[in-house]
Amino acid sequence: MIAGIEMGGTKTVVAVGQGDGTVLEEHRFPTTGGEETFSRAIEWLNERGVPEGIGVGAFGPVSVNKTRADYGRMLPTPKPGWAGFSIVGALASAFPLARVEIETDVNVAVLAEADGRDDVAYITIGTGIGGGVMADGKLVHGAVHSEFGHWYPRRAPGDDFEGVCPFHGDCLEGLASGPAMLKRWGREAKDLSEGSQAWDFESHYLAEAAVTLLASVNPVKVVIGGGVSQAPGFHAMVEKKLRERAKGYFVALEENSPFVVPPKHGQQAGIRGALMLVG
Ligand code: ADP
Ligand code: ZN
Repeated sequence: MIAGIEMGGTKTVVAVGQGDGTVLEEHRFPTTGGEETFSRAIEWLNERGVPEGIGVGAFGPVSVNKTRADYGRMLPTPKPGWAGFSIVGALASAFPLARVEIETDVNVAVLAEADGRDDVAYITIGTGIGGGVMADGKLVHGAVHSEFGHWYPRRAPGDDFEGVCPFHGDCLEGLASGPAMLKRWGREAKDLSEGSQAWDFESHYLAEAAVTLLASVNPVKVVIGGGVSQAPGFHAMVEKKLRERAKGYFVALEENSPFVVPPKHGQQAGIRGALMLVG
């Protein structure tokens, strides 16, 4: 038996399943503090047996680089009950024989969406913006983990919105997350109509993100998920703007169409990827 845990900002998913990502049984509950959330996940797993491996997809900031002394711990965060919490510690004391692997939530999603390809990027647009990268068949962390939501795109023509990122104002997350759309347009992204200028701006910023990924880690596709990406026609709009920017220059883009795609596994990508970590 192997297990997966997907920690989300609002809900946690725990599952038992197979190494190819197949979920056999799952349980969802609201995310509270670290101790309580993991007690609930462990209790549910205990009723099902003893897992040989447990894969975890965690929200940040979390230490996922195995060369760090704090590997498997949550890093300083204002989120109540999480700063310094040891995910590895909680799981190792409950299941001492289990192999435990921890990744960021976006990296487990990229693993589930890679579909046998070695070079794939994943962006999620919801309350925040996060990005995961698999390059040369490996999940990329950098020194701590990627913070792809916080780079600075070029402005969409006519956009002078100051942005909502508490640290940077107009980084990608500040300009294009769900809360950014709410503040800029005065309504939720899901309530913005199809022809609205909002989608012209939004697809501009995601095309900036996609071209930056192409130029840096050179994926064969960019998967865009999260609530905001569910707007009708969104992926096609981003792809069109991406090809306008790219000007035929990037071989990986020329060789792959469609290039900007929704997640094949939808809401299940995270939990599937968590299982695949120990598959
Ligand atoms: P979280 O980051 O909390 O998991 P979600 O990924 O669910 O959040 O994204 C929430 C955001 O997605 C909100 O801004 C909401 O307005 C937007 N959203 C949800 N459904 C749609 C839709 N069909 N079209 C456009 N935006 C949507
Ligand atoms: Zn920022």
